[in-house]
Amino acid sequence: MKKFLNRPENAVEEMLQGLAVLNPGVARLPGHKVMLRADAEEVRAQQAAVISGGGSGHEPAHAGYIGAGMLSAAVSGAVFTSPDTDAILAAIRAVAGQRGALLVVKNYTGDRLNFRLAAEIARSEGIPVEMIIVSDDVALLNAAPATGARGLAGTIFVHKIVGAAAAEGRTLAEVAEIGRAAIDSLATMGVSFSAGTSPSVGRPSFELGEDEMELGLGIHGEPGVMRTRLQPADELSDTLLAEILKYGNFGDERRLAVMINNLGATTEMELAVVARHVVPVLERKGFTVERVYAGTFLSSLDMAGISISLLGLNDSRLHWLDATTTAPAWPNVLRQRPQTVEAVVTTNAGTAMKSSAGPPRTAAGRAIERAIRAACQTLIEAESELTELDRVTGDGDLGTNMKRAASAVENQLESYPLDDIPAALKAIGHTLRHELGGSSGALYGVLFLRGGNVLKESGSATVAQWADAIEQGCRAIGESGGAKPGDRTMLDALDPFVKSLKIGDGLSAAVAEATKGAEATARMKPRLGRSSYLGDRVLGSPDPGAVAVAIWLRAVCESLHAG
Ligand code: ADP
Ligand code: MG
Repeated sequence: MKKFLNRPENAVEEMLQGLAVLNPGVARLPGHKVMLRADAEEVRAQQAAVISGGGSGHEPAHAGYIGAGMLSAAVSGAVFTSPDTDAILAAIRAVAGQRGALLVVKNYTGDRLNFRLAAEIARSEGIPVEMIIVSDDVALLNAAPATGARGLAGTIFVHKIVGAAAAEGRTLAEVAEIGRAAIDSLATMGVSFSAGTSPSVGRPSFELGEDEMELGLGIHGEPGVMRTRLQPADELSDTLLAEILKYGNFGDERRLAVMINNLGATTEMELAVVARHVVPVLERKGFTVERVYAGTFLSSLDMAGISISLLGLNDSRLHWLDATTTAPAWPNVLRQRPQTVEAVVTTNAGTAMKSSAGPPRTAAGRAIERAIRAACQTLIEAESELTELDRVTGDGDLGTNMKRAASAVENQLESYPLDDIPAALKAIGHTLRHELGGSSGALYGVLFLRGGNVLKESGSATVAQWADAIEQGCRAIGESGGAKPGDRTMLDALDPFVKSLKIGDGLSAAVAEATKGAEATARMKPRLGRSSYLGDRVLGSPDPGAVAVAIWLRAVCESLHAG
């Protein structure tokens, strides 16, 4: 386990201290793992207090939702452990005035017992207390009829709605009723790719294979209801939505708020990919998606996974979702509907039409076509080799970039004017510049553009003229990137190739020189590119760009000899 922690047993305490440092609007209640609004004393008489809490490990829940218009206080337990009755009672006493307190509790036995007992004691002291239980998980509806569904990320919608209603001065009974009605209209389901690691345990709470996922997971490291094969994002979103819609009761208006929640280690990139699919799918099913939120709302440490929550809306609920809050973890998104299906779909469908120049008619054109196909095929096959090399010496993207670019060249081959070799070279240069990306994209771009121009000027394409064109292309690479032979770059394969070709030893000999040159880079110190950050650490492993050059040159050579 690698974590930014001191002693694991102090993690929750030190986190609470840090949250108080970060959020001046939030104060620590001395003696308890309780955080409360810094202005709790001033607002105590004006509104019913809203208190929530639970085990730690679900950050930003629950302390991140403390603020005007949301929670008055949050009670924390140890990681994945219910807070104790005394802490809950201390929180109630600290923030509840005559208007009382609403406790928002997720449906776990420990939480229910401790919050209920605290409520009981507070009531006996004359403090009005109501409690609502959130049970938005649809995964366990049939599996655990006695304990009922668990509380998941939908809880944060409940915090927002009851917090806004309480801030408007509604009575405790009204706020509780508003909360219960929202819970009836709320459903969530999650999926996990890997479990989180609790600081005190030090290893993930369950293991999943590379191609497995856990559907219907819990947020405490408990496994889900079903372990299945990994699915692509769209299919997986459909699976989750199907379950949620089966059990949810979202009201006759068919208006929804959607929450795509990161369970801890999911990237913003993935959340956006899911959002892009979920919103139009729901609209096609006849729902109006009024709001969509994506982010980390209720996590499970560093679990890789998401949950999707749907909340049925009416005008008042939408108004409470939109109401201003100072809680640091609630996203203040635009109060607007997401883009319509049409807008999303048209931007997705922007793939360009291919034009066709027809098959090559000359022998040279056919040879070029064969050579290009061979080079692309071998680069596609070399993906993992190049990835490995670039992982050691660079950032690991060269294999995938080369594969993507090679596929693009194959796809666009029909549009290249193959009978006009200089023009064909320039066309490849454009494709590579566009599709390859990284340093290589720009460098291959100049190699082919300059080479094409030089060949055009020489009027024909003898071996000597080819050698000259490639030599000038290498010069262009040097001009744009500042590299010389010996700097441990793709030039260390191209340069020996050109030199050998110029002597007139033939193509096979030149390719052998390129291969030797690429191998020799393993002993060269990097001066340019990403490898230069690593210095001597790259010694012993050849430069991936140079290896790639040797690989495709060899394929070109073999295709010409075969033809
Ligand atoms: P990056 O990920 O750094 O953008 P790529 O992965 O696209 O780069 O390509 C890495 C390869 O590019 C290196 O292995 C090297 O052969 C080549 N390269 C990097 N910098 C230069 C340069 N200035 N001149 C020539 N080749 C270079
Ligand atoms: Mg790279």
